[in-house]
Amino acid sequence: MLKITDVFGSNVFNEKVMRERLPKDIFYKLQRTVKEGEKLEKDVANVVANAMKDWAVEKGATHFTHWFQPMTGKTAEKHDAFLNFTKEGDAIEDLSGKNLIMGEPDASSFPNGGLRSTFEARGYTTWDATSPAFLKETDGVLTLCIPTAFCSYIGDALDTKTPLLRSMEALDLATRRVLRLFGHYPKRTYPVVGAEQEYFLIDKRLYQDRKDLIYTGRTLFGAQAPKGQELDDHYFGSIKQKITSFMKDIDIELWKLGISAKTKHNEVAPAQHEFASIFTITNIATDQNQLLMETLEKVANRYDLVCLLHEKPFAEVNGSGKHNNWSIATSEGFNLFEPGDNPHSNTQFLVFLSAVIKAVDQYPELLRMSSSVYSNDFRLGGHEAPPAIISIFLGEQLEDILRQIEQGELSHSKTAERLDTGVITLPLLKKDVTDRNRTSPFAFTGNKFEFRMVGSSQTIADANIVLNSITADVLNQFADTLEQSENLSQSIIELVSQTIKDHRRVIFNGDGYSDEWVEEAEKRGLPNITSTVDAIPHMISKKSIDVFSRTNVFSEEELRSRYEIKLEAYSKVANIEARTMVHMVRKEIIPSVINYTRTLAESILKVEQVLEYDATHTQKSLLSDISLLIEETHHTLNQLESSLERAQKENGILEKAKLYRNEVLNDMKRLREPSDKLELLVGKDYWPFPTYGDLLFRI
Ligand code: ADP
Ligand code: MG
Repeated sequence: MLKITDVFGSNVFNEKVMRERLPKDIFYKLQRTVKEGEKLEKDVANVVANAMKDWAVEKGATHFTHWFQPMTGKTAEKHDAFLNFTKEGDAIEDLSGKNLIMGEPDASSFPNGGLRSTFEARGYTTWDATSPAFLKETDGVLTLCIPTAFCSYIGDALDTKTPLLRSMEALDLATRRVLRLFGHYPKRTYPVVGAEQEYFLIDKRLYQDRKDLIYTGRTLFGAQAPKGQELDDHYFGSIKQKITSFMKDIDIELWKLGISAKTKHNEVAPAQHEFASIFTITNIATDQNQLLMETLEKVANRYDLVCLLHEKPFAEVNGSGKHNNWSIATSEGFNLFEPGDNPHSNTQFLVFLSAVIKAVDQYPELLRMSSSVYSNDFRLGGHEAPPAIISIFLGEQLEDILRQIEQGELSHSKTAERLDTGVITLPLLKKDVTDRNRTSPFAFTGNKFEFRMVGSSQTIADANIVLNSITADVLNQFADTLEQSENLSQSIIELVSQTIKDHRRVIFNGDGYSDEWVEEAEKRGLPNITSTVDAIPHMISKKSIDVFSRTNVFSEEELRSRYEIKLEAYSKVANIEARTMVHMVRKEIIPSVINYTRTLAESILKVEQVLEYDATHTQKSLLSDISLLIEETHHTLNQLESSLERAQKENGILEKAKLYRNEVLNDMKRLREPSDKLELLVGKDYWPFPTYGDLLFRI
């Protein structure tokens, strides 16, 4: 019998294990590093390393790795054995404090955007003691993973963790400045995050027959199946047997890693599912989300399934995203976005709320940029995902309070009403004070903000770096003002009221999927950045450079390197997709269709020989339709090849990405059309790869 509490955290070098295995003084010193950010001494590191190694070896590990997150959006590891020799030449298991704290993996092939082209190009990994070390289990092989940050010799960030940690520090400092004004002195404050993850599961054998899925993670061809998601019968539907077993394995694997896997269900699209764990401190939540994605892919394989994390694996059905639920907590466990029973008199809450409203209205481009990646463009703005316009949903109660503040007549909060279900046997439920609005990219959901633009394949680090930094910056501005005040409570009300007046335009409680909103947003002057290529340049705008340098999160050089890396990645992925299409059309679609037309032509001739009257009309018209579509396919294929060549030759990073977006992507769309029509005309046995019907409904 499986009990969660028996397995939870069993592969983690967590506080409980440390308490058991470390001498008391060392344990407390390490805790001060973890919880209060104190510097780690060398002798402490040596003792911790040794205890960590003993623990890992007892569990069956032979190797350790510095586990880091380069700018590929994925994780990286290079394994070293715990092997060393005594003076006498005897083999021993060893992990020194130095090995724990620092590694020099070189790792020079990771994208660095020019940061490592100087004479000293070394890359170093350094231990992030605030995220616990864990044992990763792959096919019975256990490896001790030490979460690390990855930097260059002179300290430039080469990863996503370093700036994330910096942004958490910036937010902590700014938050505590503001809290002091209210007479609150927590030891530390943390942004906390709970990420919800959507994904698809498909049959591995079918996957292997599709080059597009193999090379790009999404289908580049495919006519709609007769059935899609129109009946909403998959959403929250009963989970199939194989998927149930898969999800159970996922839970167990994650629980062992100390990840609080909590919720699982079927999503809207056929073959689509969702996972959520309980929120935790942001850098840990980020590490955990990376591990989740890896675990989904690994466990799927065990079941002859493939997990697709792509944002839009199938046209015409919903894509996948990640909901980044974010709030700020104190080390005493208090949530600063908790409105309490009387939010109108909870001025501290109102200050933090208005800081976020101001930050989002001031830096919408940065939030958009943080969720910008080639694959997410196919999802954002579709009728299933938030539009590319950033707005905030607050719900009725907060709207009401803000209106009162603006009008200077703050009197009462709209209190929670009873929800009458109309069914006598059901208990009367207390209605949430905020309603749900699924169409908003940035929604206040009771006591947290839910940022819904992030793509399913992305790391959540980027979104949180931006959220933390822009909020920190506004909180610092608030503190600058309020610290000077002679009448604090008056100044607070004025500040909140002025902030709401200035930034009201970003608040929108209506339907974010509607066309009217696009028009309305334009009137309000809110940016609508529809493509990654337009979003990335905002990273190096003056506004961005200023806010990130004020908060010490990114230097200008670091931003420039990331700008290059992200744009290059865009072009590279577009290039791979276009080449995959060319390959599939030339090698698979055209030859298969020709095969079918030959059969048709032969059949027409035979029928004509046998029958004396004309009975080949249908076959001839089919043959003619198909032949015309082959012509069109071939024509659009040539167009794609020539635009692809133009894009490949372009040297400017931004110009290149624009060529891919404006020309190559259009030609890819044009090529897909005749091919998808052909799929519906050509006999099933002749079509070269599995169809949408097979992929979405055959598990
Ligand atoms: P919903 O139905 O609104 O999407 P849930 O209540 O299931 O949300 O929570 C979704 C995610 O939000 C979970 O990961 C949960 O742990 C996380 N969450 C809940 N409260 C907070 C909070 N205060 N801060 C950050 N995340 C939170
Ligand atoms: Mg949600």
